[in-house]
Amino acid sequence: MPDKPNTWDIALRQFHEVAELLNLDPGLREYLSVPEAVHTFSVPVLRDNDETHVFTGIRSQHSFARGPAKGGLRFHPGVSIDEVKALSMWMTWKTAVVNVPFGGGKGGLICDYKSFSPREKERAARSFARRLTPVIGPEIDIPAPDVNTTPEVMAWIADEYGHYIGHPEPAVITGKPVDFGGSRGRDSATGRGLAYCVDRYYHNTGKSLEGQRVVIQGFGNAGQWAAKVLTTMGATIIAISDSRGAVYAPEGLSATGAIQHKLESGQVAGMPGEEVKHEELLELDCDILVPAALESVITAENAPRIKAKLIAEAANGPTTPDADTILHDRGVVVIPDVLANAGGVTVSYFEWVQNRQRYYWPEQKVFDRLQKGMRQALDEVQDLAESKNVPWRTAAYMLAIQRVAHAVEVNHPDF
Ligand code: NAD
Repeated sequence: MPDKPNTWDIALRQFHEVAELLNLDPGLREYLSVPEAVHTFSVPVLRDNDETHVFTGIRSQHSFARGPAKGGLRFHPGVSIDEVKALSMWMTWKTAVVNVPFGGGKGGLICDYKSFSPREKERAARSFARRLTPVIGPEIDIPAPDVNTTPEVMAWIADEYGHYIGHPEPAVITGKPVDFGGSRGRDSATGRGLAYCVDRYYHNTGKSLEGQRVVIQGFGNAGQWAAKVLTTMGATIIAISDSRGAVYAPEGLSATGAIQHKLESGQVAGMPGEEVKHEELLELDCDILVPAALESVITAENAPRIKAKLIAEAANGPTTPDADTILHDRGVVVIPDVLANAGGVTVSYFEWVQNRQRYYWPEQKVFDRLQKGMRQALDEVQDLAESKNVPWRTAAYMLAIQRVAHAVEVNHPDF
């Protein structure tokens, strides 16, 4: 098996390719190719056996050019500085593609968080929060959930931040529980936003989503909501997978039934349908493929065998640059992560607005505004991709990098 590609190398390669196309000023290019700040912290955690273990916490703030840095916190043993830097850069492009007034950030705690007891989980999150507080804030950097970090974790971090500044400030973090200042509709926002993108793409190309066959890799928050909303739009889910297995049902499977099965058994295996191997799932005959699990799963090796006509990336970075080129040459449209999964950050922005105004919106208003934002972003990216005859990811990056570069030029006397 080849080594997993370095995520930071991929992020830089994607950036430089588009910077070249845009003939970006060399100074700006250098500036945008490194995060504005990368903080590392020692995070002591008192374990249940009374020993204190020290973990490393990271926060990368790639860009403040268009507003406070924005992006999730990932608690996982595989977190690294390079991964966090790449994810923070992608957040900068993502917020710019959907035109929300934020920059890009990402953070992580290097630990096997899943193995912690409930009390250790709370102590670890609060300890990390106390170290983060000097560098975050509603106008500075606004974290959010990511791998293994839940609304409850967000509430602990907001609580620590409130103690630090002396009063509650829910706008310091998004993805909070609704009873603690979270936005209605945030839980479904990523999968829903992806479904809005796919629906708009079919509308723009004069086709119907009715009966289009969808394969989804990864059946967590993003994958489940994408399945549910795409089904209500008329699409047919024919295969799903999670880390433990994959199920293929060519006649279609019920999204709500699959969610219920996963909830009860903790896995998708065992559902009605044929069990297939993980690697086969991506290559099944289908119309739409939704990678909603991991990075770098669509590579130069399997890209030639992918049968989907449309790939909508719920996961961050599921397609390598070499695979992108192969797919483009084969006429497969890839709605890139920075657009397809930007529903999450869009509703995070709505949450921040509601927190700042202390005025909370009904769910339908969140959905309507999300749909409007996703449709507009998709139209802009599609127009540019088609007029320049470039892959959609390149078009999304062109749009984003130009927006960010313009903000830097306007704000910084040195450019
Ligand atoms: P999650 O933890 O809820 O779900 C991940 C799913 O992927 C799980 O079902 C897991 O079993 C599955 N998985 C893990 N390894 C797998 C494998 N080898 N094959 C198949 N499935 C596998 O996570 P999520 O929130 O749904 O996020 C999924 C992806 O979407 C991540 O890349 C994340 O960064 C991205 N994303 C999520 C959001 C959000 O709001 N949830 C927003 C933007 C991007």
